[in-house]
Amino acid sequence: MKKIAIIGRPNVGKSSLFNRLVKKRDAITSDMAGTTRDVKRREVVINNKRALLLDTGGLDKGCELYDKIKDMSLKAAHKADIILYMVDGKGLPEDEDKKLFYELQTMGKDIALVVNKIDNDKMKDKLWDFYEFGCDAIFGISVSHNRGTVNLLEWIYNHIPDSDIIDEEAEEIISEPEIPEYENELNDEEFFAQFEDEEDGYFYTDEEEVEDDSIFAQNDKIKEFDENDINHIKIAIIGRTNVGKSSLLNALLGEERSVVSDVSGTTIDPIDESIDYKGKQLTFVDTAGLRRRGKIDGIERYALMRTKEMLENANMALVVLDASEPFLDLDEKIAGLVDQNRLACIIVLNKWDIADKNEFERIKNEVRDRFKFLAYAPIITLSANTHQRVDKLHDMILKINENYSQRITTSQLNAVIDKAQQRHQLPTMHGQVIRIYYTTQYETRPPKIAIVMNKPKGLHFTYRRYLTNKLREAFDFTGTPLLFKAKKRG
Ligand code: GDP
Repeated sequence: MKKIAIIGRPNVGKSSLFNRLVKKRDAITSDMAGTTRDVKRREVVINNKRALLLDTGGLDKGCELYDKIKDMSLKAAHKADIILYMVDGKGLPEDEDKKLFYELQTMGKDIALVVNKIDNDKMKDKLWDFYEFGCDAIFGISVSHNRGTVNLLEWIYNHIPDSDIIDEEAEEIISEPEIPEYENELNDEEFFAQFEDEEDGYFYTDEEEVEDDSIFAQNDKIKEFDENDINHIKIAIIGRTNVGKSSLLNALLGEERSVVSDVSGTTIDPIDESIDYKGKQLTFVDTAGLRRRGKIDGIERYALMRTKEMLENANMALVVLDASEPFLDLDEKIAGLVDQNRLACIIVLNKWDIADKNEFERIKNEVRDRFKFLAYAPIITLSANTHQRVDKLHDMILKINENYSQRITTSQLNAVIDKAQQRHQLPTMHGQVIRIYYTTQYETRPPKIAIVMNKPKGLHFTYRRYLTNKLREAFDFTGTPLLFKAKKRG
């Protein structure tokens, strides 16, 4: 994908243009684990073409030193394919701007000179002053008055290749979980107030406090176990009757793929069925019921009981929903069991071949709304009958398993947690200062993180929520729950 950088001195309007462009679509591209990024990237869609906008905003915060700005601009420009050089139309062309612009021109990238703050027709004449930059692509715009941006967008559009045209069909397939974005410019009190209606309760008590250091002693053993086990994924296909579970099982097993019956070192129950996929073993647990096609499943209590059993033997759940019909309360009840078992999860919207495709947004929102407890799960639309995107589901299973099995080093974790704490300090508890000493991941599948602190009861749920979001932003935990334990340093 083409990368676009908006470059220019402070206060010329770079962030406004950035926001104007991302408004069209603001999917945050997945963050790369373990890298500190000073430049965020946002996917933008211009008409029907996709590009990545480098968020260089903030690079120049509080920095009026020309050398520093130049340095950072060049860095950003190197990463980009398309450069939008922005100047303030209210002022006169400055030599330093011109020099930097020439330097950027020599990079041989697509570059446009964007003269901002041309707010009215009278201002248009100002544009002439800027022709001395010697740029063919010069645009007088006003982001705040929404003038002239169409021509600029058209220019950008023409510099993105047709291969980046969005495949409308592909667009609908996957919805990544959304990490809520919270305003960072608020004071602490306002900031934490935003979380208040998200969860009940006060001080964080839902995971028991760890009393001793034994979890850390176990670390090595667990790790060894993980590495042997990560190649084996036990998957439960769940959902109410008639959503297409058996059809999906058949589609996933496929005819051409050899069905593995016996793999050394792992015992497979006769009611389980397995395949090899890209070197991993995918075992679908407890499939006898799906095979039998007994519609006895229709009895709610029985359906829930059987689902419970399946989930106890699994590490990943495929929650199957029928996209062609309204969702039912039973769908929610069944999906709720995933949360209790803390499994990796993918939400499958089946029967997409007969669903109303224009309704994707609405259906997606309804899923997100009804299944709030599965906010971490990605959504995929597919058809078990036509096998549309069943292969994508195979790959998604592998990716989610990686996320679910990953181990973040203590230093990587602490870098994120420290930064989060610098932004917003831990609230005090009845006047007592709460302190986090460090955090460490003590288990995987799912990832469990111990927060070692002076007063574990003082970890307010709003703060835990905040830390969860920060970790999900920094690492790819899509599809996996993330558990915390507050531990007293003892
Ligand atoms: P289960 O009770 O959840 O196991 O559902 P089944 O797999 O038995 O499917 C129930 C009905 O839905 C059957 O008539 C299937 O043919 C149909 N079905 C399953 N998947 C799809 C699909 O992707 N598209 C369409 N159109 N029908 C499907």
